[in-house]
Amino acid sequence: IAKRNGRFRVEFYSDGTLEETVERKLLEHDLALAVESGQLELDYQPLYALPDRTLTGFEALLRWRHPVRGRVPPSAFIPLAEQCGAIAEIGAWVIDEACRQAALWPANLYVSINVSPLQLRSDDTPRQIADAIARHRLAPGRIEIEVTETGMLENSARIATALAAVRALGVRIAMDDFGTGYSSLVHIRDFAVDRIKIDRSFIGASDTDPNSAAVVCAVATLARSIGVATTGEGVENEAQLAKLIEYGCGTVQGFLLSRPLDAMRATELAHAHRDGQAARLTDQEIND
Ligand code: C2E
Ligand code: MG
Ligand code: MG
Ligand code: MG
Repeated sequence: IAKRNGRFRVEFYSDGTLEETVERKLLEHDLALAVESGQLELDYQPLYALPDRTLTGFEALLRWRHPVRGRVPPSAFIPLAEQCGAIAEIGAWVIDEACRQAALWPANLYVSINVSPLQLRSDDTPRQIADAIARHRLAPGRIEIEVTETGMLENSARIATALAAVRALGVRIAMDDFGTGYSSLVHIRDFAVDRIKIDRSFIGASDTDPNSAAVVCAVATLARSIGVATTGEGVENEAQLAKLIEYGCGTVQGFLLSRPLDAMRATELAHAHRDGQAARLTDQEIND
């Protein structure tokens, strides 16, 4: 029994407080209905190639529009979905929806899809991706799958097999949030990945903390030397962007360039960008 705010209440410390347990059960119940009642949506954060900042694609980011709670961020419900098993259905929806959107964009743009390691433990995911590619007539090279570095490490043999099956489709694999968890540069070598996404915590400190900058530099340099692409996550100012350019990081995303956009805005940007490129080409032709 604990006293808080002048009131007594019973708390169970086994698996969080009673309040937390009830709250979790309520959310779990709502989550089970979220897919079928159309409450999930994807936002898309633009990805830009360096140094010229040309749009190369978008990362799909899941949002839950809860009827009472409003927009629930992924950090508040993905771990729960993983615990209660709802991630399988949610993950399948994300794959199909992201591919459906990407098919509406110019063909030089790709979509990057976050996949939970739990999804990769079942054999369904490679088939779901293959189905989505066929259904939406999308070139496999326009899809990238993001798995966190930590996620790749747990049950790694199983995950490696699933990732190999995905890669065999012609879909690229990115190691997300690189640098958090039990990081090792050996992972870059041991996992067959096409890209490393350097975690926001290093990028965000790279303009003020020399050690963080050194990590970003080392990862970008090593990755480049073994032919793995890099994306810097969470760039918020020009100084951080300048560092990434200096270190030869290939791609960037972050609030400095754009926040995640809803599907309609992302599609507008995708087309505006293509038209902009066409206009630039014309200017060049005129100047030639
Ligand atoms: P993530 O894959 O590392 O995604 C990048 C996160 O960083 C996004 O948060 C994005 O909004 C945020 N971000 C991007 N640029 C900046 C910046 O400049 N500053 C700051 N402060 N943040 C920035 P979000 O959308 O809240 O997603 C959080 C995490 O949830 C994702 O991290 C990913 O691990 C997970 N997630 C999102 N969508 C899905 C999904 O469809 N499936 C699964 N399994 N996980 C997802
Ligand atoms: Mg990601
Ligand atoms: Mg990330
Ligand atoms: Mg992250």
